[in-house]
Amino acid sequence: MLRGAGLNSSLLLNKIAIVTGGSRGIGRAIVLALSRAGADCAFTYSKDHAPAESLVQEVRSLGRRALAVQRDARDFDGAKTLVEEIKNTFGNIDILVNNAGITRDRSLMMMSREDWSDVVDTNLTGVFNATRACIITFLKQKSGNIVNISSVSGVHPLPGQVNYAAAKAGVIGFTKSLAREVAPYNIRVNAVAPGFIETEMTAGLGEKNRERFLGMVPLGRFGTAEEVAMAVLFLLSDRSRYITGQTIQLDGGLGI
Ligand code: NAP
Repeated sequence: MLRGAGLNSSLLLNKIAIVTGGSRGIGRAIVLALSRAGADCAFTYSKDHAPAESLVQEVRSLGRRALAVQRDARDFDGAKTLVEEIKNTFGNIDILVNNAGITRDRSLMMMSREDWSDVVDTNLTGVFNATRACIITFLKQKSGNIVNISSVSGVHPLPGQVNYAAAKAGVIGFTKSLAREVAPYNIRVNAVAPGFIETEMTAGLGEKNRERFLGMVPLGRFGTAEEVAMAVLFLLSDRSRYITGQTIQLDGGLGI
């Protein structure tokens, strides 16, 4: 439960949002934070229907509209039809959160072509696909707000993740370039770069790695998905209306 959610309950009143990879982890926390802030939320997932369906029910219980769509972030044409589906259901789109992401960490020597392309296609090309699909709507209406979920790995990478580090650094470059391109149309584009966050993605780290990584975090703990969602909510709200092209590092001080 987000503390202080009541204070935020009208930050995004009646906005329509799309969150990619929204069924679990950070994406799920973002969907809930946006819904509590008054937005209607469509979100995608890739394969696991059950958590998506339960999130739809949870959003509806908050009094907001929800739509879950199974759609692979790597699918360019699928992103276009996703936007059409959402506009047909909700009437419009105001917000895009590019969150879908995966890791396939291993040393470069052991990294297969699929390890490379799965990660780059999901984490970076996926951002292009969904943003490309939304941008015409945003340009026409002369408003829109985009937040991309990068990673501290895109700024201060660890060894054994050249695919992920390259994709997440690419997301930051994408964010900066697009922010300049669409600022004249009243569209803001920002990124959040989380450090270690407690989700299924980090659940498989193993006790030894976990201790080692904890030792690298000045605040001495992993972050929560809700903490990432709060930063996303800020960037999507009017409270950050003069901020564009920026990346908020949310990492307990890891990147200092
Ligand atoms: P997670 O718990 O593994 O959840 C991933 C979500 O993305 C799920 O909803 C999953 O749906 C969906 N997804 C995966 N591949 C997809 C695809 N090809 N198309 C559409 N949806 C897809 O991950 P997370 O930890 O919340 O991470 C969310 C984002 O934060 C990612 O971009 C990740 O790189 C970034 N991040 C995470 C951390 C961390 O420590 N957790 C740190 C920095 C950045 P299914 O369940 O149906 O597959």
